[in-house]
Amino acid sequence: MTQRRRTRPTLLALLLPLYAGGLAFAEGPADPLPPETRTAVVALAAKGTGPTRATEWVRRLTDEVGPRLAGSPGDRAAVAWGQALLRELGFVNVRAEEVAVTAWERGVETAEVVSPFPQRLVVTALGGSVGTPADGVTAPVVEMKTLQALEEAVKADPDAVRGKIVFFSRRTVKGEEGPGYGANVPMRSTGAAKAGPHGALAVLVRSVGTSTNRFAHTGSTNYADGGPRIPAAAVSNADADLLERLLARGPVKVKVVLGCRPLPPATSANVIGEVTGRETPDEVVVVSGHLDSWDLGTGAIDDGAGCAIAIEAARLIASAPRRPRRTIRVVLYANEESGLAGGKGYFVRHGAEMPKHAGAFEADSGTGAPQGFSWNAAETLEPAVAAVAKLLEPLGAGTLRKGGAGGADTSPMLPAGVPLFGLRQETGRYFDFHHTADDTFDKIESPSLDKAAAAVAAMAYAVADLPGIHARPAAPPEPKPR
Ligand SMILES: [Zn+2]
Repeated sequence: MTQRRRTRPTLLALLLPLYAGGLAFAEGPADPLPPETRTAVVALAAKGTGPTRATEWVRRLTDEVGPRLAGSPGDRAAVAWGQALLRELGFVNVRAEEVAVTAWERGVETAEVVSPFPQRLVVTALGGSVGTPADGVTAPVVEMKTLQALEEAVKADPDAVRGKIVFFSRRTVKGEEGPGYGANVPMRSTGAAKAGPHGALAVLVRSVGTSTNRFAHTGSTNYADGGPRIPAAAVSNADADLLERLLARGPVKVKVVLGCRPLPPATSANVIGEVTGRETPDEVVVVSGHLDSWDLGTGAIDDGAGCAIAIEAARLIASAPRRPRRTIRVVLYANEESGLAGGKGYFVRHGAEMPKHAGAFEADSGTGAPQGFSWNAAETLEPAVAAVAKLLEPLGAGTLRKGGAGGADTSPMLPAGVPLFGLRQETGRYFDFHHTADDTFDKIESPSLDKAAAAVAAMAYAVADLPGIHARPAAPPEPKPR
């Protein structure tokens, strides 16, 4: 497109002085990047100022496969699709490493206000939820802002939610001012488990999403082992507002019908392909996203975008004039959404090779502009990471944040001390579409995806090319919201 062509020379003009400055700097003993590494990193970063093929990979995944719920036919199709694409692109050691995944089926899902003013509500079952009886659950609604409010209510009155539908109502707020996504996920993931033992009949959760559109945002819910299993659904923000208004004026009775059901465990796979390293091919740097998606949309932003960023980053590295010292391993993980089977399975299968993992990158924040990386490795890596970040500034991807576990799928590698990198992206619109029927290809922002792929390529190349593996001392794992 003409507009993009016009912006290219400007961004290149920004990069070239950095490149020249880098070469001059490289002559001094202090440059943490060897000259050839710097040259390759600069060239890879520059790829982000023009079109890459990242958008093509999301388009093909969403058009040719569509929804990819773990254990579903779409999931199996995605595993075949991923292997075929990685082979087409010339990656080696392409394979599917099987993992057992939870499986679940969505059925009919309806809800309505029975009284005081009958009308329909837009709801969607939470992944893993049991269904209701065929004629549904009809009961008075009791509102709890938060899990803590529930805890306090049942402490004051053990029958506070008995025989009722519990409605968790706290809104997810965009930006820094209010409870964001991470703060509200526990209502979704544990609301049913917490309300069930107190005699609640079902749970409705205000969508953990920031859109005012009338879409309900799904997500997984987990029951306690041996605890009661009550049905759980998300209600669209617009309908959650309605429930709050009605509850403010008096008692409200709702009917919920859910036909969903857990299925026996199924088999899926992590899809893997490699770009062989030039010196120590048995040492690897992982670049990854998760291949599964929710069933409502086509998983374009979650996480087709991340898969595309990982695939394109590896493809850009493969087409560089000089391969990095170590192997770049693309991993498209199975079932991130309902239990992290792919990430955990990768760690179990490759546990003995963790000392040979020089780094692991994950992209799982959608299609927004890249901002930089969270990273977690030994301090000895810091000068090199900072030097690469400096070269990513023209892409807007130069900020670093110490800590984190890369992404949910790489988090099992945290205790092993593997250097972990999470691509940080602008997420202003991400939680508008996340886990809804509206997560579709039209939401993809190509120029941002191009920059993201180039930023991951540049940083992953450096980590794969530097001498030594900059592992951390082993640390205990941190829990991460999904
Ligand atoms: Zn995701």
